[in-house]
Amino acid sequence: MGSDGKVWIVGAGPGDPGLITVKGRQALRKADVVLFDRLVNPAILLWARKDAELLDVGKMPGGQRTEQKIICRYLFQKAKKGFRVVRLKGGDPFVFGRGGEEAIYLAQKDIPFEVVPGVTAGVAVPAATGIPVTHRGISTEVAFRIGAKAKGSVEGKTLVGYMSVEGLKAFLQEALAGGFTRTSPVALIHKGTLPGQEMFFSTVGNLLKDTKGLRMKPPAIVVVGNVVSLRHRIGRQSKGRLSGRRVILTVSSELARGWREVFEEEGAEVWDMPMTQIHEIPMSKDWENDLRKSDWIALTSGAGARALIHAVADIRKLAAKKIAVIGPSTAQICRQHGLGVDFIGRGLGAISLAKNWPGKKEEGVLHCTGSAEEGLLRNSLARRGFLVKRSVMYRNTAPPNPPRVVLDQLRKEGADWVVFASGTAAKRFQRLMGRPWASQIKVAAIGDSTARTCRQAGWRVVARAKDVSARAVLSAMLKFE
Ligand code: SAH
Repeated sequence: MGSDGKVWIVGAGPGDPGLITVKGRQALRKADVVLFDRLVNPAILLWARKDAELLDVGKMPGGQRTEQKIICRYLFQKAKKGFRVVRLKGGDPFVFGRGGEEAIYLAQKDIPFEVVPGVTAGVAVPAATGIPVTHRGISTEVAFRIGAKAKGSVEGKTLVGYMSVEGLKAFLQEALAGGFTRTSPVALIHKGTLPGQEMFFSTVGNLLKDTKGLRMKPPAIVVVGNVVSLRHRIGRQSKGRLSGRRVILTVSSELARGWREVFEEEGAEVWDMPMTQIHEIPMSKDWENDLRKSDWIALTSGAGARALIHAVADIRKLAAKKIAVIGPSTAQICRQHGLGVDFIGRGLGAISLAKNWPGKKEEGVLHCTGSAEEGLLRNSLARRGFLVKRSVMYRNTAPPNPPRVVLDQLRKEGADWVVFASGTAAKRFQRLMGRPWASQIKVAAIGDSTARTCRQAGWRVVARAKDVSARAVLSAMLKFE
């Protein structure tokens, strides 16, 4: 126990993970403890530290809402222990979120706290579907209402209902009583900014009839007023070719730097769930000797190429070496690091590389590889009379599992795409999610051997990228879409 910690009351935005604020994400990344609500997109929780404690206070295991008193007590206790606590709420924490009550409580208890505002659903969800809540000449005032309480709203203004689908009939009646007419336009938007978004457009008089038989479920925003008609002019936005698609990236964070942005730019909802982690091993003097003596260097993975470059530190040590790689993607990684390649394998895997080996019998080969590789290349080459030294340059380990809430939600809701850069990742992810789940999701695999392993494991591979780059993966996916 040190000095007091601090509580950040953070708005997570309406759903799309890109709509949390920069400040909010910063606080989340550093948090020791995160208390989150039901409406927070689990993709956002993936930004928390792997060792952070995640507490779902939206509902208790039995399905009951955690009592406000208990949430406050948690905040107090965790902060008293010196922890950095993030209280993460959907939308803005002070809009129908009880964030104000929590702030008052913390202030009374003398616990340091800070409010990080969020993008509220009542403004963002309509905006994302082409409805501005105010518009010059149409609406100069907005009323945010909760539940069925629409009273006091008038024509010429905009009425936005939160938590209003359950009491929709009463809500519409109150809107009429307040001055809207039966022909006033209405929009009902379910899961706005999320892949599961659904929209209904009607009028105050017809909405119930029009949506009869459709199960109206929360979360939804109801917008009443003439601004709704503006969607005819603003609704067609260019949101990218993967808009509405959920994409799971399992590629190691070392490899996938900058990838997220590429998919997000195309409108995808990206879940970062790396299934492999590369730990490079410091190399000894012996390895330097092996390197000096070898004529060829064999690389059977991109991680091996990177580990080699890091291990030599001075790239001139590779000046006289000939380099053979397993395929085009590994070659590309070499070139990205300023390293030329003398031979690129064309077939599938290490055996094919050994079969077409370009060197002479008397030339020494240093195979720079990872701990997961079983010596296939060395054995095949040795059988054919080549001198091979195998160096394990990195360990390929499993990162800590993603939080349970994230996995549960993913199992329930599914995804559109999963991206794999290795068979190991595909197997690990399948073990995590279960086989029936895996068979329904489209897979984009990087490289032929990854594609093959994925198929063998039961994944539905529909896109195959030739290079290890986000662009190559994206274009393979779009070809299928
Ligand atoms: N503090 C939140 C609101 C919490 S009340 C905010 O500022 O947005 C919960 C209600 O918000 C839901 O019942 C629904 O009416 C609305 N809501 C939140 N997220 C939504 C979404 N993605 N799509 C539609 N409505 C949403």
